[in-house]
Amino acid sequence: MKIIILGAPGAGKGTQARIISEKFGIPNISTGDIFRANIKNGTQLGMEAKKYMDQGLLVPDELTVKILLDRVGQEDCKNGYILDGFPRNIPQAQVLDKALEERKEKLDYAINVDVPDENIIKRMSGRRACTGCGATYHIEHIPPKAEGICDTCGQELVLRDDDKPKTVKNRLDVYHEQTQPLIEFYEAKGILNTVDGTKDMKDVSAAIAAILQ
Ligand SMILES: [Zn+2]
Repeated sequence: MKIIILGAPGAGKGTQARIISEKFGIPNISTGDIFRANIKNGTQLGMEAKKYMDQGLLVPDELTVKILLDRVGQEDCKNGYILDGFPRNIPQAQVLDKALEERKEKLDYAINVDVPDENIIKRMSGRRACTGCGATYHIEHIPPKAEGICDTCGQELVLRDDDKPKTVKNRLDVYHEQTQPLIEFYEAKGILNTVDGTKDMKDVSAAIAAILQ
């Protein structure tokens, strides 16, 4: 069961990837995590990636796919895996496809967690972070006991710059331009499944589980 999960930033795909990973006993693989693991272990691939990262450059797609293939070749991936955050664009998806093809493998499912922009902007603008201990809240879903005050340390809660509508909108624009074309790409391959990500987290994961079962 080789899965990739797609969705706009803030659509909740990271949470769903973790749930699928636990439910089906397959590793949840993000490129950030595998870069860090390779660098920490001082592997040759990790050192190559670090050269780019130290210069503030993006790791080239070919190298990223090499590191990814090395990871999915490990024992714990023999029953499948879920990729979160890669590929991010069509060229990366093509490099990945080609590399999998060479190993006589292919992706089985692309799960698209669909949430309209306005819902995401609304969700994110309800987030609050503590300026003291970093605890996070949501004015609707996880409100603090006293408005604007952290339950744990009593410091002020603020809306982070990352969660402000303008920043969120910019990230969504990048997503629409670069990542959203993957939806058609995987649809053409016949492996796309879209779930309604506006529903409750539990309902979204039940919908995904129904597709995978
Ligand atoms: Zn606090």
